[in-house]
Amino acid sequence: MEKGFHRPLPLTVEMLEGMCSPRVFREAERYAKSTNVSDKMRVGSALSAKFHGSRGVYMTRLDLSERQFNFECTCPLASSRRPCKHVIALGLTWLYGPEDFSDLELTLVRLSRLTKAEIITLLRKVATRVPEILPLLDKAKLD
Ligand SMILES: [Zn+2]
Repeated sequence: MEKGFHRPLPLTVEMLEGMCSPRVFREAERYAKSTNVSDKMRVGSALSAKFHGSRGVYMTRLDLSERQFNFECTCPLASSRRPCKHVIALGLTWLYGPEDFSDLELTLVRLSRLTKAEIITLLRKVATRVPEILPLLDKAKLD
């Protein structure tokens, strides 16, 4: 995956701090500095990651399009009105290390430079390592 370059997002630590209680913010800070965050990805204005908590793995998403926060999380404390600690931690994780996020758009730019044969070879490797992608590829249709 292509890393190392990032375009800025309209996000600051102060914004995140203003969205939650001091306790949630402290927990989020601890999470963001831990190694319990994986699959960090950016797609346009949206960030996503997996949080490995003591009671399960949660998928968290934060979309910053149009200066508006849209967020979701699969944890039991998730709410559509107030972000949970994972949402805050996701924002902090980005601010602390945007270079650690894979950027789908950059990956696609790189893939667009490959030949068809190279892409097929790549898909073979990916499908061998990540078998669950195969049904998606079988059903895939281009609009
Ligand atoms: Zn959560």
